[in-house]
Amino acid sequence: MNLTDKPHPWQLAARAEAMNPSAIREILKVTERPGVLNFAGGLPSPETFPIEAMRAACATILAEGSLTAKPSLQYAASEGLPELREWVASEMGKQGATVSPDQVLITTGSQQGLDLIAKVLIDKAAPVMVETPTYLGALQAFSPMEPSIVSVGSDEQGVQPEALRAQLEGMAERPRFMYLLPNFQNPTGRSMSDTRRAEVLAVCQEFGLPVVEDNPYGELWFDQAPAKPLLARWPEGVIYLGSFSKILAPGLRLGYVIAPPGLYPKLLQAKQAADLHTSGFNQRVVAEVIRDGFLDKHVPTIRARYQVQRNAMVAALARELGPTGATWNEPSGGMFIWVRLPEGLNAQALLPKAVDAGMAFVPGAPFYARDPDTRTMRLSFVTSKPEEIDRGMAALGQVVKQALAA
Ligand code: PMP
Repeated sequence: MNLTDKPHPWQLAARAEAMNPSAIREILKVTERPGVLNFAGGLPSPETFPIEAMRAACATILAEGSLTAKPSLQYAASEGLPELREWVASEMGKQGATVSPDQVLITTGSQQGLDLIAKVLIDKAAPVMVETPTYLGALQAFSPMEPSIVSVGSDEQGVQPEALRAQLEGMAERPRFMYLLPNFQNPTGRSMSDTRRAEVLAVCQEFGLPVVEDNPYGELWFDQAPAKPLLARWPEGVIYLGSFSKILAPGLRLGYVIAPPGLYPKLLQAKQAADLHTSGFNQRVVAEVIRDGFLDKHVPTIRARYQVQRNAMVAALARELGPTGATWNEPSGGMFIWVRLPEGLNAQALLPKAVDAGMAFVPGAPFYARDPDTRTMRLSFVTSKPEEIDRGMAALGQVVKQALAA
């Protein structure tokens, strides 16, 4: 029986009142109808999961008499497995950021990193700045701490430095941080150019506004690696979040936070309280999988696959939506394309019709902290084959044309 049906002695904390079911999860329920082509999810393609490598790694770790079997199943250090922390530091070095393994905290997905950051840095009513639109899961992680979320004007390159400056000049209290997704953002797929990164960071530095840089998609570039991370440009003012979800498998729940030394102990204490440590076994499996440069071969196969799918979707959108006045971007990596419907249409209202026509998307509105653009939608191109993308975009084109004619 549902607890709420009966009188009960529980009283919710105020912060629990501030928690909401993910609008996306609610929407995804509508989309999960058999036979519907689903462009709504945020899942990586399961075709990219390296099952053989995982199987081999598990066998090695658990081999009879192996030195790794018992430690991988024992309680472990909250900071994470030393091999993984060293790997993260060395990878960041290749991207121009000088990171010590001591600054790396292995987390249970980068989503946990967002939660720990919220606990350590946000007081009730304290301002926190975000892009417009931004990752819904970050808004969810921050909201129990009851911040005052400030959305900063953004364009196809992310946050606009002038808009950021104008907002900061008008604020009485310095925001705790600005949350930024410089590479192939969720939900829009957009990226910050090198110049934009420098301009935005210059404003942040001028106002003493620290940055949380979230980068789960950075490795999924198609033609050219992204510009240098923000962490490399302002080491003491940036917390960086990374993840194995999009380059290995999200079910491992393995991510990391890189924090300036002064902040690290507090994040570690929050981590200890949250779950003692991230699964030691999963960490050992990943360390074993990636030990001999596996990702150097594996990640390019993901890039190549997703690029073909991106191309298919861009071509299909041009064919099917081009004549309607809808607009969209052509992301240079990642998993998502952001579409803006023609004037007068509402993505949320269109969704049931699209599902009836055999395809599903996510309306863009939930990704806005406030003042949603109701004409927007997010399409994932990575879990459908090119011919399914063709059929799905044809169905979308049909419902958009019908809605315009109505
Ligand atoms: N940040 C962003 C922008 C994301 O899109 C996601 C996954 N959807 C996450 C963080 C969390 O990823 P994970 O916990 O799997 O590392």
